[in-house]
Amino acid sequence: MSDVKTALVTGASRGIGFVVASKLAEAGYNLAICGTRQETIDQAAEKILEASGMEVLACAVDVSDRDQVQRFVKETVKHFGSLDVLVNNAGITRDNISMRMKPEEWDAVINTNLTSVFNAMQAALRPMMKARGGRIINISSVVAGMGNPGQLNYCASKGGVEAMTRSLAREIGSRNITVNAVAPGFIETDMTADLGEDAHAQLTSQVPLGRLGQPEDIAAAVCFLSGDSAAYITGQVLHVNGGIYM
Ligand code: NAP
Repeated sequence: MSDVKTALVTGASRGIGFVVASKLAEAGYNLAICGTRQETIDQAAEKILEASGMEVLACAVDVSDRDQVQRFVKETVKHFGSLDVLVNNAGITRDNISMRMKPEEWDAVINTNLTSVFNAMQAALRPMMKARGGRIINISSVVAGMGNPGQLNYCASKGGVEAMTRSLAREIGSRNITVNAVAPGFIETDMTADLGEDAHAQLTSQVPLGRLGQPEDIAAAVCFLSGDSAAYITGQVLHVNGGIYM
């Protein structure tokens, strides 16, 4: 078994997850990454390998499918021999006002953003306990605290992620496993790309730091929580939002 640590990042084909994975590789982790399509996750893996030289296991996984996400965690442990850091990042939106929200919009968001996080954490616990330590970092959202009209499904999923983060942190603290969340504000990725110019300007005007966030802002927080300096931090939600919510 090698001494190199392993990090698993879900939803790493693009956006925040891709930059989180890239920065963890830069920090010296071997990586297991997933997205919904093999072609795009392979392309992401190639870029990370080229930039960092670290080993990358890239799989097409639908995190909303319990068997797929749990199998992916097991395959990661089998391949690398350990799982030191789990980053639950994959997420989607299916916005609609409450009166019009369809059952499939509700289910898709809850399954992808919330149930998947439980399933991945459950699968990671045994190897982390065996290794006598580990770090779990869940990507939440500023709207879990603020609320957001048209996003009841999304806000419920992220509020659930934060509540699970605290509960699991209490449950497994004695095993030297920390569980934290990072709550991004509005970050420039595909998820926010179709905000019109007006909405972009209006949002920016509400951010005390005067800009929307970049994936690198979130990756820095994830790297901090996965590193040695964060050993005594658990059950916390680290807000990275330019001050839009405080
Ligand atoms: P993004 O650019 O839309 O990327 C989403 C990533 O998740 C992609 O890699 C996508 O893979 C993957 N994904 C989606 N559904 C999946 C599934 N069922 N199984 C596996 N992978 C799946 O999103 P982002 O902005 O980087 O967001 C990343 C996380 O940050 C999400 O949890 C999001 O809720 C959270 N967040 C984002 C913002 C923001 O302003 N951007 C703010 C707060 C929180 P494919 O490429 O295969 O589709």
